Amino acid sequence: MIKAKNIHKYYDNLHVLKGVDLTINKGEIVSIVGPSGAGKTTLLQIIGTLDKPTTTNQNVLEINGASITSLNDKALAKFRNEHIGFIFQFHQLLPEFSAIENVCIPAFIKGANQTDAELRAKELLDFLGLKDRYNHKPNELSGGEQQRVAVARALINNPDLIFADEPSGNLDSESAENLHNLFFKLRDEFGQTFVIVTHNKELANMADRKLTMVDGKIVA
Ligand code: ADP
Repeated sequence: MIKAKNIHKYYDNLHVLKGVDLTINKGEIVSIVGPSGAGKTTLLQIIGTLDKPTTTNQNVLEINGASITSLNDKALAKFRNEHIGFIFQFHQLLPEFSAIENVCIPAFIKGANQTDAELRAKELLDFLGLKDRYNHKPNELSGGEQQRVAVARALINNPDLIFADEPSGNLDSESAENLHNLFFKLRDEFGQTFVIVTHNKELANMADRKLTMVDGKIVA
């Protein structure tokens, strides 16, 4: 599903990723842990196609067999919209839009019509226990509810891959536990692949595989 080889990233003279190799299989839930500043978010942004690795002779980044480094920006945006969902620590919902409108946005970007998008959004919100919250705006929802709306938004285009960066970093422990269980339920029901950067030990240890990053590299 994801094959990355010899990924480097420099920010000016700062060498942040120092040759990362990584293979992630379909349907796996992989956690990435490690000290702050190790390069976890940078790696997630690169394998999530939001950022580009610094070009080297032998770097490889493939998702579903497609060579990501050879796509132009337009093709990359389309690929991302169709294959990838993101969940961030701060849900980044648009405050002036309702839950259902926020969830529909990636579907509209993909070109879905309103009826189909809303139908799918309702299915997801129902599945996530938000049946009575369709028309609430983010500030009318609890932190856990907001994060579940963000999960629905990440799922609306049926992505194969979900990237999450500290998804429960901003939640109380009960909401965090519910969110973590939800990831596993989604994987079991829909076969999605998850890559999760987290400081949450429980979540990291629940994963099928836990990768540790130290100083720009994945260590054993
Ligand atoms: P982690 O997620 O493990 O805490 P990050 O990937 O966020 O680590 O950051 C790794 C290093 O890269 C840090 O030293 C950070 O300051 C630096 N860094 C991250 N993004 C940028 C950027 N856009 N410009 C310059 N330096 C950056």
